[in-house]
Amino acid sequence: MNPWFAKAVVLLASLVMVVIRAPHGQRSRGVPVARSRRGTLELVLLALAWIAFFLPLIWIVSPVLAFADYPLRLVPLVAGTVCLAWGLWLFHRSHADLGTNWSITLEVRERHQLVTEGIYRRVRHPMYTALLLYGAGQALALPNAVAGPSYGVAMALLVALRIGPEERMMLEEFGNAYSEYMARTGRLLPGLR
Ligand code: SAH
Repeated sequence: MNPWFAKAVVLLASLVMVVIRAPHGQRSRGVPVARSRRGTLELVLLALAWIAFFLPLIWIVSPVLAFADYPLRLVPLVAGTVCLAWGLWLFHRSHADLGTNWSITLEVRERHQLVTEGIYRRVRHPMYTALLLYGAGQALALPNAVAGPSYGVAMALLVALRIGPEERMMLEEFGNAYSEYMARTGRLLPGLR
C-alpha cells in the first residue's frame, strides 16, 4: 500500500492529540503548583516523550529515517488506526475528567481535588492507558522500524517509571481517600490491580 495512507493517519492523530492537550496545557499554567516532584528522571522522561512524538513527524516530512521503512499492509494500518482513535478518545475523556487537576508532570496543584468519577471510576491511570494505546496504534500503523515504535517505547518507559512515584505522591496527599480508591480500582485497566 502507498505509505501516504499511514502518513495521513499519523499526521491527523498527532494533530488531534495536540488539539486535545492544548487548552489543558494553557489552563494549567494559570493554576498555581503547591508541590512539585519534577526531578531529573521526570525531565529525562519528558524529553524522551517529546523526541518520540516528533520522530513520526520527521518520518512524514523527510527521508532521514527511510533506511528503516518496510511495506505498509492493510490489516496493521486498520488495527493501528482503531488503537489511535480509541487512545485519543480516552485521552480526551481523562483530560475532561481531571480538569484543572491535570499536570504534565508529578505535581499537586493548589486546591487539588482527587478525581474518582467518570473515566476514573474504575481505573486510576486512564491517561496512561490512552498513551500506551496511542503508542501501540502508531507502532502498527506506521511502517518504519524507528519512528513506528518510538512513542510506544517512550510511553512504556514513562508509565513504568512514573506510576509508582505518582501513586506514592497521591497517597501522601490524599491518605485514606486514595488508598480506598486504590482498593476499588485497577491501575491501567478495570480489574487489573
Ligand atoms: N495518572 C493519571 C493522571 C496523569 S496526569 C492518568 O493516567 O490518568 C498526572 C497528574 O495527575 C499527577 O501529577 C497528579 O497530580 C494528577 N492525578 C493523578 N491521578 C489523579 C486523580 N485521581 N485525581 C486528581 N489528580 C490526579
